[in-house]
Amino acid sequence: MEQQKISLVIPCYNEEEALPYLHSSLLAIAEKMDYAEFELLLVNNCSHDGTLKLMREYAQKDSRFKYISFSRNFGKEASMYAGLSYAGGDYVALLDADLQDPPDLLPEMYRCVTQEGYDCAAAYRQNRKGEPFFRSMFANVFYKLMGKISNVNIMNGARDFRLMSRKVVNAILSLEESERFSKGIFGWVGFKTKWIPFENMERVAGKTKLPFFSSLIYAFKGIVAFSTVPLVISSIAGLITCIAAIIYTVAVIVKQAVWNEAVSGYASQMCVMLFGFGFTLLILGIIGQYLAQIYLEIKNRPKFIIEEISEGLDS
Ligand code: UDP
Ligand code: MG
Repeated sequence: MEQQKISLVIPCYNEEEALPYLHSSLLAIAEKMDYAEFELLLVNNCSHDGTLKLMREYAQKDSRFKYISFSRNFGKEASMYAGLSYAGGDYVALLDADLQDPPDLLPEMYRCVTQEGYDCAAAYRQNRKGEPFFRSMFANVFYKLMGKISNVNIMNGARDFRLMSRKVVNAILSLEESERFSKGIFGWVGFKTKWIPFENMERVAGKTKLPFFSSLIYAFKGIVAFSTVPLVISSIAGLITCIAAIIYTVAVIVKQAVWNEAVSGYASQMCVMLFGFGFTLLILGIIGQYLAQIYLEIKNRPKFIIEEISEGLDS
């Protein structure tokens, strides 16, 4: 029987320190899974260190290693999309370069999709050991909120780490939005997914490229991309404020007409005004986020630009 091909797609940004560990780990797993053919596709996000040099070396020595190098850093999302577009495998797995997504799970994932009838096997962290308190807290709130206000269900602790059959990959690629939020996209396309738990791992070397603030913005974009509930809440909150304002106005008029008691007080007026301005700006901000997404999508710019690509991938 012909061997099935597994493509591993790995986004890399300034990963010169982690790449040697990743390289040996990938070689080990390819040897362990010798029943499948491997394509090891590294996507360089215009790193400033020796990442690209290492990729060239790996590709030169071993034809299973291939790389795509971007003209600038288009972000992890664009790298995953590019990797999925160029991957030629019957199955495609996404994993990070820092070994926080343990390649040792790949045999189990492969077994699930080839023998247990799943279309996708995805890994999630059972715990967030070693992660800063605030990051875990916000992540927990985010997953709960996302589950309630959108029609995509994202497993708490889910990473982008997953192995998918070709039909899932094609479905993901058919969603061509440029403002991508892959965790939502994976949930949105559906398919039978096996969830595999694993212990949180520390990055093998180097520093995180996605600091807390960037993750917060990313999470916010995810909400905007997959839910219109914030707009509904804004409308309801606006309506409630209007009703409160009408009731208050009637009360002021009645007070003046019946008891001849004018409402006085600069302080109370300022409070109402500041609340009104703040509230209006908040709602405008929320609408603005949706407008920004429409604006970015409508331009329809390419999601990435390739500066260099390894031989055998350019077709
Ligand atoms: N990454 C990328 N482009 C970026 C930021 C990150 O390709 O702009 C890659 C990075 O090299 C790594 C993966 O995305 O392979 C996850 O990044 P990181 O480990 O820094 O994020 P964390 O695990 O801390 O959330
Ligand atoms: Mg990491």
